[in-house]
Amino acid sequence: MFKQTDDLPECILEDMSMDGDYTTRDNVFHASEVAYTCMYKAYMDRKEGKEFDNQAMYNIYRGRIFDRHLTKLFDERELRVQHRIKNTPFIIRGRIDGLNYDTNTIYEIKTVQSINYVRGPFKNHIPQAVFYLTNYDPLATLKFIYLSMDGYKVFTYDDTLQTADSVMAEMEDRAKTLGLAIKEGEPPTPSKGNECKYCRYKKQGRCPIVKTRKRKV
Ligand code: SF4
Repeated sequence: MFKQTDDLPECILEDMSMDGDYTTRDNVFHASEVAYTCMYKAYMDRKEGKEFDNQAMYNIYRGRIFDRHLTKLFDERELRVQHRIKNTPFIIRGRIDGLNYDTNTIYEIKTVQSINYVRGPFKNHIPQAVFYLTNYDPLATLKFIYLSMDGYKVFTYDDTLQTADSVMAEMEDRAKTLGLAIKEGEPPTPSKGNECKYCRYKKQGRCPIVKTRKRKV
């Protein structure tokens, strides 16, 4: 008989916790940070630090294990892309997972629990990758590779340059909102989106607009 527990060995926990770079600067935003819609959450995460339980840390770690092995197969890996927002001190940054020169293709690699639930790139993954495309070469091909232990799926971005530009414009707006809020020390207005589902501010009853339903006793 086995009893399920949550205690990973200390050596793995240590490696997991060292395996990230969460340092932030007030005027520099990671593309994934402004890919989400709620800048209230992004602001609070900056102020209070992100919180990961072991399972969430493991999911990030699992992604990096795949990344480390796969990205070295490309012509370029972890290619840094930066975008300075005109007339502001704000910068959006990120790293392209993989790039192949012969086909001029950018690859964004994502790992998931099970491939069966993946019908297309996730809403919150798209802006980050479009950011890479727009700022590396808008004429390049962008592909998402979703991986899990039970399979993989590949998706090619086929939207117009205008759509990519409008995704970029929205990211710029969110970065400006977040940047000004940090400067003034006032959280931005929350806005509902996919991220509400797992939001700790909602769970803790601290979201000003989304309340958790109390269970009837
Ligand atoms: S629950 Fe509230 S704070 Fe969290 S993401 Fe949604 S709107 Fe933002």
